[in-house]
Amino acid sequence: MSSLVAVAEERLEPLTLARNVAWWEVNVEATEENERRRAETELEYSDALADRELFGDVERARIGNGNGEPIVARRLELLQRMMLPHQIEDSLRSRIVQLEAAVEARFSRHRGVIRGEEVDDNEIKRILRESDDSAERREAWEASKTVGASVADDVRELARMRNEAARSLGYRDWFALSLANDEMDEGKLLQTLSDCDRATAEPFARWKNALDMRLGERFGCDASELCPWHYADPFFQEAPVEGSVDLDPHFKGKDVVGLAGRTFEGIGLEVAGILDRSDLFPRAAKCQHAFCIDVDRGGDVRVLANVTDNQDWTDTMLHELGHGVYDLGFDEDLPWLLRDTHLVTTEASALLFGALAGDREWLERVLEIGAGEAAALDGRLRSARAAELLVFTRWVLVMTGFEQALYADPESDLDTTWWDLVARHQLVSPPDSRRAPDWAAKIHVAVAPVYYHTYLYGSIVAAQLRDSLTAAAGGLVERPEAGKILVDKLFSPGASVRWDRLVEQASGSPLSVESLARAVAAV
Ligand SMILES: [Zn+2]
Repeated sequence: MSSLVAVAEERLEPLTLARNVAWWEVNVEATEENERRRAETELEYSDALADRELFGDVERARIGNGNGEPIVARRLELLQRMMLPHQIEDSLRSRIVQLEAAVEARFSRHRGVIRGEEVDDNEIKRILRESDDSAERREAWEASKTVGASVADDVRELARMRNEAARSLGYRDWFALSLANDEMDEGKLLQTLSDCDRATAEPFARWKNALDMRLGERFGCDASELCPWHYADPFFQEAPVEGSVDLDPHFKGKDVVGLAGRTFEGIGLEVAGILDRSDLFPRAAKCQHAFCIDVDRGGDVRVLANVTDNQDWTDTMLHELGHGVYDLGFDEDLPWLLRDTHLVTTEASALLFGALAGDREWLERVLEIGAGEAAALDGRLRSARAAELLVFTRWVLVMTGFEQALYADPESDLDTTWWDLVARHQLVSPPDSRRAPDWAAKIHVAVAPVYYHTYLYGSIVAAQLRDSLTAAAGGLVERPEAGKILVDKLFSPGASVRWDRLVEQASGSPLSVESLARAVAAV
């Protein structure tokens, strides 16, 4: 058995490395050559995972391994899980890949139109943040939804094909397959979502009521007349400025990368090597977002970012390095397949560090804004943080509820389902008589299916870790003991331990919304 695992690792390791390098290069510079290389390495990697003979050997080995070595059993389990979604009929696999790519391309090419002019997403967001003109806001919001109408039929078709794939593998639908394949228990997920709903419904309603009063004043209408375009984000997935604290003046002229470096140094976590290999500042033809990638599972960890001197980018730098220190923290003796993370736990680490950019202690000790000023900001910082968590949690309830319904029946009246969920969880009503596939305007539904709940789990676990580090080390900022706890209990086991057991081990308690509930009560 152990030789089969070793053979599979030997085959996957170079393909993964090539795919990661190609991914890095195309994001650093989007040339045709880099794009071709990326598609090529992606295909080679997915072909290896689709190998039926290897998959059959892995399945038989898992059964035969019975009471074998746990470290071999765990690698076989991960290998089977990586390969399973690729074990579908070749023609179905290629139809799904092609349609996904076509829809993704349509999203990149599509531009909404405002007053006869094509606009990009940044312009739409700018109007929704800044404009006091309700008619202009309405046009911007409607423009943000037109992509939905253009891709909706294809997104439904993707859901049908994904269901067909899931059923051919013995699962009820794609929703069930995705969760099972990600070590997520569906019953537990639904219970957690309903716990989140209960913990946030009242504070969210209270916070939104106050927000609506302020928005009513700003737009000169009654709070009951507010429409979806009066919120600062097309999906109301982020808290509007009315509910947050503007810290940007404190970041102006600061060395954001240096601050991030000092943050990790103070916690005893080494990031100099990551920063050396990284590509951190804006440049033409470079990806505009940010990510962290573990290129070789052997210490080559890099961050791509477009840093400017504001709070958002400081949060992002800390976030990406929070992924990076996790990847550098794996136990040296772990075999290749186990030098990996579950999305929930790595996202929790990233969110834990990212949030420091709005944390009183960090502002005082790392940004050095002065104790008096930090103390004066404290209450507002905590309520801004609570508002962010509330808005995000309610939004994930919409997304997850919708995807559950989509895969349960792709033929159902999805337009109505979407607005029912938005009204219930976000307390936003649809504009009168609106009939449109607004759900399809969210790119994740098309190209990152059944994924959104991992962000919510990540933020629940981050809140748990924060509480447990406060209890064990007094906090995180400038506390190497906290860094040591994270390395020993969360990072070093890699994927050798299931994510839910890792959460319990690292935070001292199983996944629970208690810490999140406490954090949102500060709103
Ligand atoms: Zn992340």
